[in-house]
Amino acid sequence: MSAAGAARETAAALQRCDALGLNATLHWSASLLDAQAHTIDRRVAAGETLPLAALPVALKDNIVTADAPTTCASRILEGYVSPYEATAVARLRDAGALIAAKTNLDEFAMGSSTEHSAFGRVRHPLDPARVPGGSSGGSAALVAAGAVPAALGSETGGSVRQPASFCGVVGVKPGYGRVSRYGLVAFGSSLDCVSVFGRTVEDASRLLRVISGPDPLDSTTLDRPAIAPAPAPVDLRGLRIGLPREYFPADLDPAIRTALDRVAGAVRELGGTVVDVSLPHTRYAVPTYYIIAPAEASANLARFDGVRFGLRRIGPEGDVRALYRATRGEGFGAEVRRRVLVGTYVLSAGYYDAYYRKAQRVRALIANDFAHVFGSGVDLLLTPTTPTTAFRAGERTDDPVAMYLADIFVSAVNLAGLPAISFPAGRSDGLPIGAQLIAPALGDERMLEVAAVLERVLPATAEVR
Ligand code: GLN
Repeated sequence: MSAAGAARETAAALQRCDALGLNATLHWSASLLDAQAHTIDRRVAAGETLPLAALPVALKDNIVTADAPTTCASRILEGYVSPYEATAVARLRDAGALIAAKTNLDEFAMGSSTEHSAFGRVRHPLDPARVPGGSSGGSAALVAAGAVPAALGSETGGSVRQPASFCGVVGVKPGYGRVSRYGLVAFGSSLDCVSVFGRTVEDASRLLRVISGPDPLDSTTLDRPAIAPAPAPVDLRGLRIGLPREYFPADLDPAIRTALDRVAGAVRELGGTVVDVSLPHTRYAVPTYYIIAPAEASANLARFDGVRFGLRRIGPEGDVRALYRATRGEGFGAEVRRRVLVGTYVLSAGYYDAYYRKAQRVRALIANDFAHVFGSGVDLLLTPTTPTTAFRAGERTDDPVAMYLADIFVSAVNLAGLPAISFPAGRSDGLPIGAQLIAPALGDERMLEVAAVLERVLPATAEVR
């Protein structure tokens, strides 16, 4: 199909999602799609080979583009259009992708349900009363609804794998430093990763091949080539998969346990072995994450001061303090304010050692747990991605801790900076269940290759009984 045809189809699909009330997009336009298609068709006609020719890709709206607003789903960025583009976006465009839409998210990527968006919650494509997960819920929902084959999201603590699991799509968080953060609006800089969604592992891998690799504009990118998994199915004989017992608690939802047993069974049938392992510091991951991420957020969000970006409110006194107070008081939603308060508190004199420094030490213990099991001959870890399937909207909005616990199986990976993937492994009462593979540092390729094999043999959309 020509890029012009792909642009028309994408516009029609996005229109349908909007008409259904998914609320997954914050910005898209048929004319922007047409203009991009025109350029792609011209490049193809001129003989260029484009690895992602006319592939529609949606972007979480905390990734900057120069031709559309970037809101981070926050009032504080009202009217903001970036003067430059994120490296991941520039690389997608260069590869011929069609940037389809900017997608809805929890404000500044803080949340696990996309209910903390200033522009209304995203609905789960299979059940509008439920959440799609978060914070990249708009991107996950668009892929699950079939509007786009792939999308970018971001992870600070599970924000791609968790919604991928809830929506029944593939979500990949690459190892920290494999994809440039340039142009990703900073939340927790030691954790943030541009991450990808696809209908399949191959869709996600296609994006990663293009967007990964070193970038002089992000000094934390690793000096490693792009993530390039083998395109052909690999042999799983000899593969050793670890099941960390802390990720299979006694009260785990039985359907999720059964789904994971099937994945482990498939590994054995294909010639791999499955062994029990332990990551003893797992239970500290959520509390550690919810100290470190808010601490970094409180520093990163200081830049939204009413002077440089978006919203400006001159307070009643007319001085600079009043400007900060009025702009930030009006511009930030409740969850963002909570994070800034917690982050400022744990970094303040007298509390720094008790909270922030201690959290950093526990973070090292968590990373060591992983290093230890991977050092003992285990190639990959297999876990559920989430402790439940997609929950109902409103169920956890009054209880931040209940919301934070939705991240219990995903946040340790971010603290350790490792690659991980969630892929569909069956359904329970019609709702998707995700299986997670976690890889050692620089194991992104192997992880994607194994996931691609498992995806072929698993009944991804069948009810688990
Ligand atoms: N749910 C986590 C939070 O609210 C993760 C967010 C993310 O990964 N961006 O902080």
